[in-house]
Amino acid sequence: WWQMRRLMEKSLSRSQTRYDVPGTKRRTDYDYLIVGAGFGGSVLAERLARGLDKRVLVIDRRPHIGGNAYDFHNEDGLLVHKYGPHIFHTNSEKVFRYLSDFTRWRPYEHRVLAQVDGMLVPMPINLTTLGMLYGREFTSDDAVQFLAARAERLDHIKTSEDIVVSTVGRELYEKFFRGYTRKQWGLDPSELNKSVAARIPTRTSLDDRYFTDSIQCMPLHGYTRMFENMLSHPNITVATGTGFNDIGTSINYDHLIYCGPIDEFFDYRYGRLPYRSLEFRHVTLGQQRFQPVGVVNFPGEDVPYTRITEYKHLTGQQHRKTSITYEIPCAEGDPYYPVPRPENFERFHKYLRLGDATPRVTFVGRLATYRYYNMDQVVAQALTVYARIAELDAKQQLP
Ligand code: FAD
Ligand code: UDP
Repeated sequence: WWQMRRLMEKSLSRSQTRYDVPGTKRRTDYDYLIVGAGFGGSVLAERLARGLDKRVLVIDRRPHIGGNAYDFHNEDGLLVHKYGPHIFHTNSEKVFRYLSDFTRWRPYEHRVLAQVDGMLVPMPINLTTLGMLYGREFTSDDAVQFLAARAERLDHIKTSEDIVVSTVGRELYEKFFRGYTRKQWGLDPSELNKSVAARIPTRTSLDDRYFTDSIQCMPLHGYTRMFENMLSHPNITVATGTGFNDIGTSINYDHLIYCGPIDEFFDYRYGRLPYRSLEFRHVTLGQQRFQPVGVVNFPGEDVPYTRITEYKHLTGQQHRKTSITYEIPCAEGDPYYPVPRPENFERFHKYLRLGDATPRVTFVGRLATYRYYNMDQVVAQALTVYARIAELDAKQQLP
């Protein structure tokens, strides 16, 4: 069934006037039009179709489903994440249980090394990192004292620079954070909200995992397969290669769920919301292994990329070749990261007020709600939106 739909999608994307293909009605009625087939859009499509028996059309301007989590097998058969490494981690049993209806999982705990002082050392900074950098053993107590002696006392912790220098001091800040952040965001950490660098803890233990969430794993057959399973419901029609503007008035729908950039939705009325972009340089190498862990970070400003991912660590795939991706941050391109700065949030809130005043439209996801969300947070947000819709729907259906 899925293959049949893929064929239909292909013919739709070839035809350009996609709802004009033979056998398709000129005007089509849906309860919901969902813009964006990433986590936000796909969770809502699945819930509305299965949970409330709604007819749903999901569109995405990209030629595939899955949003930024899309993965694919490249010409050598290696599973690659098209938009950079996506590692699933959550503390939410509810989110995990929900997604487990659509995929089995492989256990995976993410580990990252950073290239600092000519060595590959564990990141987040932990006892091993300190030991390697300073050439001596650290106990937990040693590390607490060592960091406390270097940490700068600040009255107000507002920026990403503040949060790091007040925890580990300036030397470690400069080695691990300043260059990486300047490359990643095109801004100095002193110009970015503390929430950005606060994502990375400092540990006075030997725990060298990147995340400490209670649930950490990867979809066994990849993210795209999981999305295919979510969207394979007879009430759901998927049209990839279709932008919201392509739809025009050819489709009737009662309600819109919009997972694209909110400023674009309102024709940039209050100006553009900044998003940071990335270039992904995918390379396949004729060797089994390239690096010791899934991701190596490069905080130095001598190279333009921030990190290299080797997917086989994440996917567990056995293959005689290996596939890696360099991430090179840039200003222009697809919007990936909302930029957490007070003036951007102010502008976003103006858009949010417009959104609140726009009937029959709900904004969901990382771009539409301008939040630096992980996958599980978007799933949680979509499930919350669904619960609200289901509640309203139930009320309307009361006699
Ligand atoms: P998206 O996945 O961005 O989906 C939105 C979709 O809407 C896109 O496919 C877009 O093409 C489509 N769209 C937008 N506008 C229109 C329009 N006008 N018409 C039609 N379609 C439109 N999270 C984790 O939990 N773990 C990780 O390891 C992780 N790594 C990441 C690495 C990178 C490089 C990036 C950029 C993000 C990472 N994330 C990670 C975050 C994760 O990608 C997001 O939380 C999640 O994909 C957001 O889902 P979404 O549905 O909100 O948005
Ligand atoms: N960061 C850093 N050095 C690192 C890793 C992260 O300075 O080696 C900072 C940087 O500002 C980055 C932020 O911490 O944008 C969050 O890192 P994370 O790995 O969570 O970024 P993501 O995976 O979301 O791109």
